[in-house]
This record gives sequence, structure tokens and C-alpha cells, in this order.
Amino acid sequence: MLILTKSDFIKLLQCRKYLWLYKHRRDLLPEDIDLSLEKVFEEGYEVEKYACELFPKGDGAVFQPTFKSPKQGIICRCDILKYTSPKEVELYEVKSSTEVKDYHLSDVVFQKQCLTESGLTVKKVCLILVNNKYVRHGPIEPKKLLKIEDVTEEVEERMEELPARIEEALKVLRLKTEPDVRILKQCSKPFACPLIPYCWKNVPTPSIYDAGLNEKKLNILLDKGILNMKDVPAGMITPSKRKFYESVLTDKPQIDRKAIAKWIEKLVYPLYFLDYETYSSAIPMCDGYRPYQQMPFQYSLHVIKKPGQKPLHYEHLELKAVDPVPALAAKLSKQLGPKGSVIAWNMGFEKDRNSEMAERLPAYAKFFNAVNKRMVDLAEPVKKGAYVHPDFLGKWSIKAVLPVMCPELSYEGLVTETATAFEYWPELISGKLPPAERGTMEKKMLAYCKMDTFGMVRILGEMEKTLGH
Ligand code: SF4
Repeated sequence: MLILTKSDFIKLLQCRKYLWLYKHRRDLLPEDIDLSLEKVFEEGYEVEKYACELFPKGDGAVFQPTFKSPKQGIICRCDILKYTSPKEVELYEVKSSTEVKDYHLSDVVFQKQCLTESGLTVKKVCLILVNNKYVRHGPIEPKKLLKIEDVTEEVEERMEELPARIEEALKVLRLKTEPDVRILKQCSKPFACPLIPYCWKNVPTPSIYDAGLNEKKLNILLDKGILNMKDVPAGMITPSKRKFYESVLTDKPQIDRKAIAKWIEKLVYPLYFLDYETYSSAIPMCDGYRPYQQMPFQYSLHVIKKPGQKPLHYEHLELKAVDPVPALAAKLSKQLGPKGSVIAWNMGFEKDRNSEMAERLPAYAKFFNAVNKRMVDLAEPVKKGAYVHPDFLGKWSIKAVLPVMCPELSYEGLVTETATAFEYWPELISGKLPPAERGTMEKKMLAYCKMDTFGMVRILGEMEKTLGH
């Protein structure tokens, strides 16, 4: 008999091919769970641990019970099941999200079906979520950290269509060959599919998927066998992607020198290129923080005092398991002087961190508020279309722009594609790493952050070159 688990079912809802490949071609899946995914799992376990504390001993709660439907071969493991009588239960599913998501409902709908077919009456269905208004003060208080959302009605509305979806999933599993599925938005929603390297191997660069088209337009192109962005009819391109499209057709950058000159004119020396690395988690690590609040633990700062001068470099990385903000603020306030432009890439992120640090540390409020008034965003000329390159692939992150504008600079070897300083930091401060490994990790993290600010120095230099400076 075929067995369908709730995670199989969620895969079907994302993509039939994902479910089939996951079951029949495990060899195509990445071998290791990367650090990023590991963190998601660990976070889930931690939240679940606190959720269990919401149910005192003796109130009928059972943790992680497994049920197998005698009817359809569906199997599920519930997070928490509370028996209100021998045959009546309340179902509680724990998620480390702060809000209800569509796939959460699919998850509990599947569980309810399995429980019902196993002879239980499910009186109530709830999601236990993270309350992002909670602020940690001392030991974690589960009742404040978590919130319970009753989704009984929403689940009821979805129950009718469920048997057909389960039958569809079982049909997919019975297929002898992989189903033919078009590449559309499902590859990244609700999760980035781990089979992208396999399914996308013949997709050219840039492709129709870089053109910002809706699914209707993508389907029209796919019907005609069009995959290359160059073959997209001009009439389909939206105004926001037009410059990128033209750069792809001509295979040349589109540079608006006037707009770049205007942006550069705003700069005031000395120039400070600033980048933070931050950490956030469902369970706040330190007092005074909310769940998922970003906590800056590292910065890199390049300083150019006068035009034409070589940049100086400063950096900081917290190495202890403490609130990293006071030490960071103390050091940065000595290295970042009172005059001159503070340049960041996508500055909204750095500005928000500055505002939060100002609020958190009144002694540095004046410093951070003044820094925010001097901030300029180096990503702006790219975002606003003043500098467009076909190889940016319509993106404007520094990881997309830097290797194209300054090919001699590379992030390769500094971190893996998926594990960044964010994932490394908890390991670095854990005290569990052997000294040599810890030293290597520290060096990599410093080099990674330094590349961001040195990259900005170089990108600005390249922009100036287009003006003949
Ligand atoms: S990469 Fe896309 S098409 Fe391929 S299995 Fe995943 S979701 Fe389906």
C-alpha cells in the first residue's frame, strides 16, 4: 500500500513533479542539509519545546502522536493533541512563523483528515505561532512568546476538496515516469525547491523568468517554446524591465551618465562605506529583543578621506555569546567620524538597525540618528535604472552587481552560497568549536563582510569611470 505523509502532501501542493522526484529520485536531491535549513529545523524544535510548556501535565495533551489512516494509507505525526474525551481531540500545530500561512492550513487539514479516518472527532484546530510583539526580559515566558490562532473554521472550509487532492497525490506516486510540469512560480513558492538545479538545467541565461512576466505571459511563451529572454516580444515587457530588456537585446550596459553624475554630486567626503551583519531568531537570544529582531553583531567600514585617496579599513566582530550591540556601538562611534556621507547598499536595512540601536542605547542615540541623516544608498543608481547591465539579470543585490562590474572580486570561498555570516555566528560564539576551526570561521566572516564594503568602494569607482573621472 502506498503511504502518503503530510510533508509529501505539502510537496504535492507546491508541485507534482517535486513529490514524484522526492519519492523516486532521491539521488537528485542535494546530499547535505545546508546550514540555513538546519537552522530552520533547530528553530522549529526550540519553539515546539516552549509550546509543550503551554500544556500542563494531566490536561490530556499528548506530544508527537502518530496516526495512520486505515482507509487511504495516509500517515501523520501531530505536534500536540489534546484529548477532551476518549474520542474527542483538539489539534495544535506548532509553527515558528509569526502569522498564518496558506501551507499551514493545508498541513492541519491533512492531519484532521487522518485523525478523522482513525476514528477521532477533531473539535478544534489551532496553530501555535510566534508572537512578534513579545520582548524578552529574563527567562523565556512561553505564554507571552507564543500565540494560539484558532483556525477550525478555515480548516472546515477546506475539508471538502481534500479527498480529491489526496487521490491526486497517490496517483502521482503511482506514476512510472516523472510528470511533465512547466517551470513557473511554484519553483520558489512557498519554498525554494531543492530540485531547481535539475529542472532548470536547460534554462538559458537570461531567460523569460528574468523578464518579470506574469504566469499568463509565461504560458504564452512556453506554448511557443520560447525560453530565451531575447525572444520575448517587446510588447510583453513591462516598463520597469524595459531598460534591462534593451541591454539584453544589445548585449550592452545601459548607462544614464547624467543620473549617475547627479547621484555622485551628493557625496560629501570623507566617504564611509558601512555594512552590518545581523542575527535573528524566533527565540530572542538576549534581553530587550523581540522574536526575529535583527541584532547587528559585525560591521565592516571602509573610509576614503579625500578624493583619490586609498581606502582605510575598520572592522568588528563579536566573539562572545552576549548582546553584541553595546560593543559594536562603542567601537563604530570612534571610527565613523562626524562629517561625510555614509554609504550603504540598500541603506534601508542599515538605517533601521541604526534607529533600533539608537532606541536601545540612549548614550549612542545622537550618534546613530546623525549617521542616518548622512546615509546614501549606492544601490539607488542600479535600482532606478541609471546603471543597467544584461548580466545583472534584472537584479540589484550587491551579490548580483559586484561580480559583473568588478569581475576580479569574488565572494567565492568566503562563505557557501547558502550559509552566510548569519548562519555562522551562533556557531562561532557557541564555545564548542576547536580553536583552529573557530579561527578559520572568524577569518571567513571578516573577509565576507569586508568584501561588501570594499565592493561598494569599487562599484563607486566604476561608476565614476563611466563619467571619465
Ligand atoms: S524545480 Fe520547479 S518544476 Fe522542478 S520539481 Fe521543483 S517546483 Fe517542480
